[in-house]
Amino acid sequence: MEVISLQSGSSGNCVFVRIGQTRLLFDAGISGRKTQSRLALHGHDVHDVDALVISHDHSDHIAALGPLHRRFGLPVYLTRPTHRVVSKKPRTGELSDVRHFQAGQTLEFPGVTVHTIPTAHDAVDGVCFVVEDLESGTRFGLMMDLGHCFRGLSDWIGDLDAIMIESNYDLPMLRDGFYPRHLKERIHGKGGHLSNDDASKLVRDHAGQRLQWVCLAHLSDENNTPELAVKTCRAQVPASVQIHCADRYDTTEPMLIRSPKILAKRSSSAKPGVRIQKAASEQFLFS
Ligand SMILES: [Zn+2]
Ligand SMILES: [Zn+2]
Repeated sequence: MEVISLQSGSSGNCVFVRIGQTRLLFDAGISGRKTQSRLALHGHDVHDVDALVISHDHSDHIAALGPLHRRFGLPVYLTRPTHRVVSKKPRTGELSDVRHFQAGQTLEFPGVTVHTIPTAHDAVDGVCFVVEDLESGTRFGLMMDLGHCFRGLSDWIGDLDAIMIESNYDLPMLRDGFYPRHLKERIHGKGGHLSNDDASKLVRDHAGQRLQWVCLAHLSDENNTPELAVKTCRAQVPASVQIHCADRYDTTEPMLIRSPKILAKRSSSAKPGVRIQKAASEQFLFS
């Protein structure tokens, strides 16, 4: 499985995931031109995308939904309540190919299941996702705009091979920053975002042995820095787990997730008594 964050944060979100021959885009927060050119940088054609899946109705996730849909002919997957809100925004325009799902349902694509998980974020009907490759069993969690560590969320984390998770703010920076009180309370509240500490502890406490990497995402420009987010996470998660940080204004390099079956086969074929020097994930990433 291959994951590319095309941009992440309040200025726009869009994540590309390729699972075998199936290509999915999650959220439409950056322009069609940027989406197309950033995918092309990594050798992908936006016209080959099979579906545009929307997490929730906030503008950093849907601003370019209509243009992306019409320009590249991408079918749109979203819930009915989200569709209702989104369709009132002037830029959305006419959507001719919409497939509705209910929050909590699974979406089926060739060789792929996408589990949708209702979140506690203050959107009308927000969801986050677990993408599962049915052939290899690889599982990727795309967990942004969560609200807080809501009940049931941790159950999804234990058997993930990789996770992209929001790490929105550093609590002291938010507390001491210039944001008005109501905004601080919204971000820190039950319907806002996860802090660096929240995200790191969630991964530390619930991720399993098979986790290869974490990509910290949706960082605030005013209340966080990539260095701080990575440092907080590094202090909590095992050294064998790679940590990446999604860029607020640009694309990441492709992040690869190796099949847990291949990894298991490789480690079982190691000779007894021979210590494997590097964690399997570090051997493979960016190779
Ligand atoms: Zn949001
Ligand atoms: Zn957002």
